[in-house]
Amino acid sequence: MIDLVQDLIRIPSDTQEGANRALEFSAKWLEDHGVEVTILENEGYKMLVAELGQGDETIIWNGHLDIVPGKKEQFEPYIEGDKIFGRGSADMKGGCAAMMVAFVGISKHADRLTKKVQLHLVTDEETGGSKTSKYLVQQGYTGDFVVCGEPTFLKIGLQAKGISQFFITFHGKGAHGSRPWEGDNAILQSHRFHQLLLEQEWTKESSEFYEHSSINLARIQAGDRFNMVPDTCEVGYDIRFIPGQTVEFVEEQLTAILTEHFPNAEIRRRGISPAVTTKREDPRVMQLVDIMKDETEIMGQHGSADTRHYAVTGAGAIEFGPAGGDWHGPGEYVSIASMERYRDILMEFAYYTGVAEQV
Ligand SMILES: [Zn+2]
Repeated sequence: MIDLVQDLIRIPSDTQEGANRALEFSAKWLEDHGVEVTILENEGYKMLVAELGQGDETIIWNGHLDIVPGKKEQFEPYIEGDKIFGRGSADMKGGCAAMMVAFVGISKHADRLTKKVQLHLVTDEETGGSKTSKYLVQQGYTGDFVVCGEPTFLKIGLQAKGISQFFITFHGKGAHGSRPWEGDNAILQSHRFHQLLLEQEWTKESSEFYEHSSINLARIQAGDRFNMVPDTCEVGYDIRFIPGQTVEFVEEQLTAILTEHFPNAEIRRRGISPAVTTKREDPRVMQLVDIMKDETEIMGQHGSADTRHYAVTGAGAIEFGPAGGDWHGPGEYVSIASMERYRDILMEFAYYTGVAEQV
């Protein structure tokens, strides 16, 4: 497993071509270890599916092999104590390697499995996941429960905030910069809008795992001369709302502020994604809790992963993976001990028959 994760780190999978190479490498590795795989391709992005076991229930292990760009030296992995350093070690080639080794492990006794276990390796999570994980779901590769092996320190990332991204264009009235009172400054409109937005009760609402929504004024485009009052201003919002709220709800709330205070403004959607709302009572979550006993910690994620693409089918979807640090940063590493523990938990989870029968 340690060699495997280092081999994966050496493949710079921060481009489509590199991610496909990492995918092909993984396919060959699995085949060399006796696992049959199916490779699919969508818009040039490759992905891999393998299945073991039998029964009515399907659990999916999902891992992404693409990474964010790194410095040249980060593609030469090295080990210090329990840590393997390198780009993608934590996010998430460590998780992928552990999943692959666990999958080969359960393939030795696949006749004992009372459920189907699918391995999905994908190549575009860091750029949204719509070309591979979302595509797999659209092609019918769905299951009852999905584990995305993102680095969570072996905590169960039960829920994730939803995403609603909007552009809003404010229209004011231009004037000479020396007589601003004759105009209506569109930048100031957007500023007023932002204040009104932050005052809204729903933005401060909390839930079990979250204190409040995340509201990020991400983009602004307006004004091109010092001596003019800007007559238009376009802003871009990235709002991560808590489970229980919906994209439609957020859009209604924004529209209500605009209708009341800025009737000329226009709003348009950019990207949306529902919140992931897996429940503690999901029988597979309870199985994991039973396997991990006192080790168990359950949390909510502020960002989102490929879980959201599976969760839209109603499947339970969690982020659950090894420990590491500084992913997307220069000192990225994964913990070897936690990868080993992760591999063992996955294998136990695949064979688990305890709580499922009692529930
Ligand atoms: Zn990731």
